[in-house]
Amino acid sequence: MGQRFVLKFGGTSVGSAAAMSQAADIVAAVCRDGHQVAVVTSAMSGVTDLLLGSAHAAVSGQRLDVVERTAAIRARHEVAADALGLEGDQRHLVLDPVTARLAELSLLCDALAVLGEASPRALDAVGALGERMSVHLLAAAVRQRGIAAHAVDAARVVRTDDSFLAAVPLMDETRRLAAIELLPLLEAGEVPVITGFVGATADGVVTTLGRGGSDYSGAIVGAAIDADEVWIYTDVDGVMTADPRVVTGVQTLESLSYLEMSELAYFGAKVLHPKTILPALERGIPIRIRNTFNPSHPGTLVVGRGDDNGGGLKGVTAIRAQSLVTIAGRGMLGVPGIAARAFGAVARTGTSVSMISQASSEQSICFLVAAASAGIIIAALEREFHHELDRRDIEDISSLEPVVIVTVVGGAIKRTPGVAGRIFSALGAAGINVTAIAMGSSECSISLVVDAADADRSVQCLHGLIAG
Ligand code: ADP
Ligand code: ASP
Ligand code: MG
Repeated sequence: MGQRFVLKFGGTSVGSAAAMSQAADIVAAVCRDGHQVAVVTSAMSGVTDLLLGSAHAAVSGQRLDVVERTAAIRARHEVAADALGLEGDQRHLVLDPVTARLAELSLLCDALAVLGEASPRALDAVGALGERMSVHLLAAAVRQRGIAAHAVDAARVVRTDDSFLAAVPLMDETRRLAAIELLPLLEAGEVPVITGFVGATADGVVTTLGRGGSDYSGAIVGAAIDADEVWIYTDVDGVMTADPRVVTGVQTLESLSYLEMSELAYFGAKVLHPKTILPALERGIPIRIRNTFNPSHPGTLVVGRGDDNGGGLKGVTAIRAQSLVTIAGRGMLGVPGIAARAFGAVARTGTSVSMISQASSEQSICFLVAAASAGIIIAALEREFHHELDRRDIEDISSLEPVVIVTVVGGAIKRTPGVAGRIFSALGAAGINVTAIAMGSSECSISLVVDAADADRSVQCLHGLIAG
């Protein structure tokens, strides 16, 4: 019996005609095995950056920059259409939408130049254009393999709220729309090729799910059509024990639990967007991370329960460019509500907290935020606590940057005594100073704050605990 799969291709997997051909070969092979396939695609690699760069250039009046970026985007798609050998109608089916989207870009940039600022809503309208172009190329490449494939704009399928730049999918409505837009195609053995990253509000206003969000789209579509599995195709064999650009000798993991994957992704493993796990977990859909350029490799399976890996650790990650904010004072002891007020003040700045470090006494609160937000957060906290500061109940509100959060992940952490000890001994032996620590609430991760200068060395050093 055929199964139903979502195959999501990332930016490098559709970054050129050669890559798209590989992706289309994979789609065709899965279809020929008798399965139903829904494809979700990213923009061609680098295109989203070019688009958002155009918006920022328009705001600062750099008209020439906008023109150059637009030409570069057009060339990427035209060169790919040529290299795929698209002719006649098939060529029009791909390049007419590219021309239309670039005309939209030009209008949007003109408007931004007049306004002199870019709202989140405008940035989403611009950012979403990349997927709304690449989708036509990939659909054409699949059709070249004799399979009926149709480009589908996710604005028609993925219904979201209006939190622009990080829209939240409304799953009931998305499921209803998917039943109308996608199921008839799948049941007819045809392939919808859907824009990742993109959604729309009930009023039809285009939204995006956040940078790197097409992985999330893959899982949203998978949940909406009750897929048997979601395969995330990227440019590495799967999830590795650490970022291969930082550590040599990394290994590809065979399997991970949803919780482990979610911690790795949240704490900086770029291979998967952290929200991807949610829709999959809710419906129990396995996710497999695979390599477009090494299709026979089984990849990494993410399921309800991963193997225990002999009770060991699974991966080490880092979130860079962080700031450690400290609120301290003897007058905080036993005073209820200080933490609530502190986090309330931070929330009102629209900044999210990446990590909270539990203090053993009530005399200090430490947390981490993106270093770029440190200034506004300190100002907000000083306003919130000006009475306490005047009375010296709070003596210090300060930030330390740049620091890095290094996280070790493994489902066995909660059951294995001595993991924290091994971590500290390893870092101590390497002469690396730890400024703060926190254990993930899921108890499958331990996070440490180190100086930015020690980031790579810390990741390498802790990776030794996994490999060893
Ligand atoms: P895509 O465009 O396919 O979404 P991304 O660039 O977003 O691909 O993510 C894949 C990249 O993530 C890899 O090329 C790799 O460099 C990086 N990466 C970081 N940490 C890890 C990790 N732990 N395992 C695998 N890849 C990782
Ligand atoms: N194209 C989008 C980005 O670059 C989404 C994605 O590729 O996942 O952020
Ligand atoms: Mg990605």
